[in-house]
Amino acid sequence: MANSVRNTVILGSGCSGLTAAIYAARANLKPLVIEGHEPGGQLSLTTLVENFPGFPDGIQGPELIENMRKQAQRFGAELKQGHLVKADLGKRPFVLDFGKEQIETMTLIIASGASARWLGLPSEQALIGHGVSSCATCDGFFFNGKEITVIGGGDSAMEEALFLTRFATKVTLIHRRSEFRASKIMLERARAHKQIEFMTDTVVDEVYDVTKQEVTGLKLRNLKTGKAWDFPTSAMFLGIGHVPNARMFAGQLDMDEEGYLLAKGYVMTRVPGVFASGDVVDRRYRQAVTAAGTGCMAALEAEKFLEENGR
Ligand code: NAP
Repeated sequence: MANSVRNTVILGSGCSGLTAAIYAARANLKPLVIEGHEPGGQLSLTTLVENFPGFPDGIQGPELIENMRKQAQRFGAELKQGHLVKADLGKRPFVLDFGKEQIETMTLIIASGASARWLGLPSEQALIGHGVSSCATCDGFFFNGKEITVIGGGDSAMEEALFLTRFATKVTLIHRRSEFRASKIMLERARAHKQIEFMTDTVVDEVYDVTKQEVTGLKLRNLKTGKAWDFPTSAMFLGIGHVPNARMFAGQLDMDEEGYLLAKGYVMTRVPGVFASGDVVDRRYRQAVTAAGTGCMAALEAEKFLEENGR
C-alpha cells in the first residue's frame, strides 16, 4: 500500500475531533485533522464553559479548544484547512475529495459537528452579517448601546441573551412556546436579569429592512391570539439549535430524519472503518464532555480496526 495512505483522517476540529486526535496521535497513528468551515467548532464561539470537568472556576470555550489543539499537536497530530466536497466510502482506502486535493485513508472519524440553525426567512438570510447573527460572542459588540432580540428557548438562547446584556440596553428573548427547553439554572439566570425581557408564544414572520441592509425591526406574530405587530430592534440573534454537518455522506451512511448520523455502539457507522463522534451523531446530549467522550471512543475503535486489518 502506498505510504501516502493515511491511517486516520479526522473530519472536524471541535471538541470531539480534537479529543479523537489526542488519542489517535498518542497511539502513533499520525492523524490528520481537517479543520473545516468552523475551526474549533461550537466551543470556539462560546464564552464561559462551567460544566467541563476539571475547571472549578470554568474556562473560556476558545481557551479550552486551543488547549486541546496544542495537546493534539504535541503528540503529532497534523491539522489542515479543508472542506470535504465528496467522499468515496465504497472501498478502502477511502477517498476524500477536498477539491484541490484528494486524500486516501484507512479509517475516517467524522466529527464534523453541527452548525447554527436559521429560521429560513428570505429577509433573515438577506440580513445575515447586517444585524442578523447566530453568534453573540462574534457580533454582540457591534450593537453596543442598542436594543437586541434573541430567538429561542434553549440553553443557547439563554446564554446568548445573558452575554448580550454586556452591550445591549435591553435584550428581548422571543420564544415560540411558553415552555422552555433551557436548563433551570440558565432560565432562572436569564429571568432574573433586569435587562432581559421575555416574549413567549411568538414567532418572527419577517426581518426589516432588507432595502436598507440593516435590521430595524421584526414582524412578530402571537401564536395564541394570531395578532401580528411590528417590533423595533437593532439586531436579531438566533439561538434555535443546530443542524448536523453530514449532508456529504447522504446515501453512503445511515442518518435519521434530521440528518444526524446513526451509529451502533455510539461511534460505529455502517461502513467498517468509518466512525462518527460528537454532535454530528448525538442529537440527545450535545455536550462538550460527551463530544470529547465519543471522540475518544472513535479513536480507540479506529486504532483497534487498523490493528485487526494489519496496519
Ligand atoms: P435546543 O435545546 O434544541 O433548543 C432550541 C430552541 O430553539 C428550542 O427552544 C426550540 O423551540 C427553538 N427553535 C428551534 N427551531 C426553531 C424555529 N424554527 N423557530 C423558532 N424557534 C425554534 O438547542 P440549544 O439551545 O442550542 O442547546 C443544545 C444543547 O446544548 C442542549 O443540550 C443544551 O443543554 C446544550 N447547551 C448548553 C449550554 C450550557 O450549559 N451553558 C449552552 C448552550 C447549549 P421548541 O422548544 O419549541 O422546540
